[in-house]
Amino acid sequence: FNGSKGHIAHADAVASNDDRRIASSEQVPKKKKVVLLGTGWGGMSFLKSLNNPNYEVQVVSPRNFFVFTPLLPSVTCGKVEARSIVEPIRNIIRKKNVNISYSEAECVKIDPNNKKIYCRATIDSHSKGEEVFAVDYDYLIIAVGAQVNTFNTPGVMENCHFLKEIDDAQKIRKNVIDSFEKASLPNLSDEERKKILHFVVVGGGPTGVEFAAELHDFVNEDVVKLYPNVQDLVKITLLEATDHILNMFDKRITNFAEQKFGRDGIDVKLGSMVTGINENEISTKVRGNGEKTSTPYGMVLWSTGIGPRPLIKEFMKQIGQGNRRALATDEWLRVEGFGNIYALGDCATVNQRKVMEDISEIFRKADKDNSGTLTVKEFQEIIDDICERYPQVELYLKNKQVRNMVDLLKEAKGDAAKESMELNIEEFKSALSEVDSQMKNLPATAQVANQQGAYLAKCFNRMEECEKNPEGPPRFRGTGRHRFHPFRYRHLGQFAPLGGEQTAAQLPGDWVSIGHSEQWLWYSVYASKQVSWRTRALVVSDWIRRFIFGRDTSG
Ligand code: FAD
Ligand code: MG
Ligand code: MG
Ligand code: MG
Ligand code: MG
Repeated sequence: FNGSKGHIAHADAVASNDDRRIASSEQVPKKKKVVLLGTGWGGMSFLKSLNNPNYEVQVVSPRNFFVFTPLLPSVTCGKVEARSIVEPIRNIIRKKNVNISYSEAECVKIDPNNKKIYCRATIDSHSKGEEVFAVDYDYLIIAVGAQVNTFNTPGVMENCHFLKEIDDAQKIRKNVIDSFEKASLPNLSDEERKKILHFVVVGGGPTGVEFAAELHDFVNEDVVKLYPNVQDLVKITLLEATDHILNMFDKRITNFAEQKFGRDGIDVKLGSMVTGINENEISTKVRGNGEKTSTPYGMVLWSTGIGPRPLIKEFMKQIGQGNRRALATDEWLRVEGFGNIYALGDCATVNQRKVMEDISEIFRKADKDNSGTLTVKEFQEIIDDICERYPQVELYLKNKQVRNMVDLLKEAKGDAAKESMELNIEEFKSALSEVDSQMKNLPATAQVANQQGAYLAKCFNRMEECEKNPEGPPRFRGTGRHRFHPFRYRHLGQFAPLGGEQTAAQLPGDWVSIGHSEQWLWYSVYASKQVSWRTRALVVSDWIRRFIFGRDTSG
């Protein structure tokens, strides 16, 4: 310890020992208590960026480690070891100058009126259900993620694998290897072997596609050497309910992926809806002609999307958000209607404000002289505020290739536009009528959760400073200004590994490229995004090990 750091650490320890006694006897203000739910991407990112020692933070999560989810598909076939992509949460919090404690428990109920949550310890499965305890908060941060969505398809829960948690990936790995061992036993008919080695992936999103590619590589690179007698009986089927796989990517990537999978012998069935699964067969219906088929399978991975956790569903009902798919927050990530509850990541969605909803307020504020019309000068004075408060405006101008908003107004006014032009409210409305068209919901990705966690930590780091010295973007509804800038997502691009050391990359500006060098970009990006040097070293050495020795197939 150097002097000052040691001093802070000591002060923290004292404060946490007995806050109340100190608060009353020595007039040290009691630290505000922040309770954080979840140790995934959102929670980890918040903890890593928080450095304001004036908070006392309690983390509640049933998982005492962070999982680097983008590498989960690599774990399913042994390219990377499970331990290499997890980081104990206690490693993350012990490095902070902030007073952070952790409880291995899940939150089962949120009581916003009494600023309390109820939790159940998840450590010992025998005592499950008994160890319920309450935790008070001043600020609550909800980052519990989402759960798999079966769309109530019969048999899915009982018969399918999922790929969401580290246990899932390990189970899949064991099951894949078991399948090859089982199919290699004597006294089986070829029919039986084929059934065992029929791998079905439901859902053509990034996770399903990457798993199919991993499995295909595994068969091509390792199975041919280790199980040469059964390699020809392997079949991989990818079922997608819509018209294309990798819908969220550029058309060029979708086409390339579908063609590559075709060449690889992965059977991609588009427009194919799963209607049910029993122990032996998976039943599908073709969209359009309604044709039904049932096919024997050995293993199914279900990866069709996510839905809200029971805790979130219950909370939404409680606070009148009804039957939504995620908790609605404002652009400051505050749950709508609450100043002290925040939500981020997969369990939440940001309700961006529309310009057109506030258009009359904007006009009234801009029209300083109350003349009922806006001059260019009046308008120019609030342009920056508008762009700041409504990020979609900038996007709209860029897409329309309009230099600035004044040009937009001139356009709306037609030929008569001069510097001296004035707009009435109707003309103002029509000029801006399209600006909201560019708004999109943010995707449920690690990238979003990660940026939101860092943003929220920054807000907490500056909370007192901002309370004394309010600044930030304007509110067009009500009065005054917000203390902080709204959250803004910066899309850094997206990868889709397609197997055979080829990856598709879609970078900002819709820059698309596919090939082997993109795979190297993928390796370097995912190495650099690791949350610690420890996991970075483990992941990179796993990759090298696999290049030299192939995959580990014990299990
Ligand atoms: P999570 O990371 O899911 O964390 C939720 C946390 O809350 C967990 O710690 C959980 O244990 C805890 N929790 C659950 N219930 C409770 C409760 N009741 N009380 C307290 N705590 C609770 N995104 C990308 O951007 N790029 C990728 O390449 C990518 N690949 C992916 C691959 C796979 C296989 C998967 C499954 C996801 C992938 N994602 C990727 C998506 C990304 O992982 C999620 O968007 C991200 O994890 C969301 O972060 P989160 O913090 O909201 O939730
Ligand atoms: Mg989280
Ligand atoms: Mg996670
Ligand atoms: Mg979200
Ligand atoms: Mg005026």
